[in-house]
Amino acid sequence: MSTAKSENLFKQAMDLIPGGVNSPVRACGSVGGRPVFIEKGNQSRVYDADANEYIDYVLSWGPLILGHRPPCVIKALKKVIETGTSFGAPTELETDLARLVVELVPSVEKIRMVNSGTEATMSAVRLARGYTGRDVIIKFDGCYHGHADTLLVAAGSGIATLNIPGSPGIPKSVISNTLSLKFNDIDGFVKIMEEKGDKVACVIVEPVAGNMGMVPPVNGFLETLRKVTSKFGSLLIFDEVMTGFRVARGSAQGLFGITPDLSCFGKIIGGGLPVGAYGGRKEIMDHIAPVGTVYQAGTLSGNPLAMAAGIATLTELKKKGVYKALDDKTEKLMTGLQSAADDNNISLKTGHIGSMAGFFFTGEDVHNFDDAKKCDLEQFAKFYRIMLEKGVYLAPSQFEACFLSLAHSDDDIDKTIAAAQQAMADL
Ligand code: PMP
Repeated sequence: MSTAKSENLFKQAMDLIPGGVNSPVRACGSVGGRPVFIEKGNQSRVYDADANEYIDYVLSWGPLILGHRPPCVIKALKKVIETGTSFGAPTELETDLARLVVELVPSVEKIRMVNSGTEATMSAVRLARGYTGRDVIIKFDGCYHGHADTLLVAAGSGIATLNIPGSPGIPKSVISNTLSLKFNDIDGFVKIMEEKGDKVACVIVEPVAGNMGMVPPVNGFLETLRKVTSKFGSLLIFDEVMTGFRVARGSAQGLFGITPDLSCFGKIIGGGLPVGAYGGRKEIMDHIAPVGTVYQAGTLSGNPLAMAAGIATLTELKKKGVYKALDDKTEKLMTGLQSAADDNNISLKTGHIGSMAGFFFTGEDVHNFDDAKKCDLEQFAKFYRIMLEKGVYLAPSQFEACFLSLAHSDDDIDKTIAAAQQAMADL
């Protein structure tokens, strides 16, 4: 497999863009590789600058649940582009997308569109602080909520991949009110809330963690977050940027039957265009300007192209059988991956919730960030490189999830499992 053109493009990019990339994990540093430059995508596949073809399990880090260039999204985008690309004024499309989210996620009575997951979580935290009049926020180690200053503490995703503790440029005073606790540690959480609960504005959590690898909540964890935040008058924020419309039609909150006060969305809600959103109970959301005094705004927020892509995607996801199909495909892939490892005496833990999946090179169960960091990162890096060589495009870090789309066929999954069998034998 030649990647000469990608290498040349990467060289040019590195002269002009820090690390040659516009988001750190894309540089593939932790897997000892260089990124391939993608030229196009179609259904479950991406094609690089050297015309190599890959089965894509990154899917732009989650948004493309229908695969690349689904006809319904392309059609919607073509229609809108003929009318304009941005107005900075209200459009009907914004209300249409809001209505769809409100219909599918009952805890959301009102919703505000922004441009990224980072903006969604940042704004939700500001709203929680404004609403409660409190300053302290609680998050969990290894969860990533975007790169807003107050949330970049013990974070997952690129921060975990690069193994850096936090980021320079964030004054201590800015994060002095951020507490990061152990994910899935019910007793630890209750203890801190008993001490400080009346000062806590909000608890923000990825209901299924996806930024330290995929780590589901243990029984009782989310239930306890709900019960104890209610007791102390703190808001519970579900960061569903990754899990929203991914793990189930009603998102993680629908799947687990927990009602958060606020929810953050991104990725799928924009159908592959830049979108984020935050929403929740009317009474809380009406504290946002211009109704209330908590300020948040955006030049391109509610962009018509992004709204149209989101509407087309969510409309497709309302069809019967979609989530069962996604779940079946993912179950097949993960079972195959587990067998490939078992057959070759490689310690591997696989798991999935709907079409959000993950695998760790370890023999131990992974319940939190400390467990995830104990995995064999070298083995992951080797596996990643062999799979890429065999035409399977995985996220280039042990601390990321992988995703399937409706466009992934049985044949794609069989090919991936066959590649994994060979890769595990080569490890
Ligand atoms: N929250 C979660 C759970 C995420 O996974 C991400 C991004 N992967 C974000 C927030 C930030 O979203 P964005 O990259 O769109 O700013």
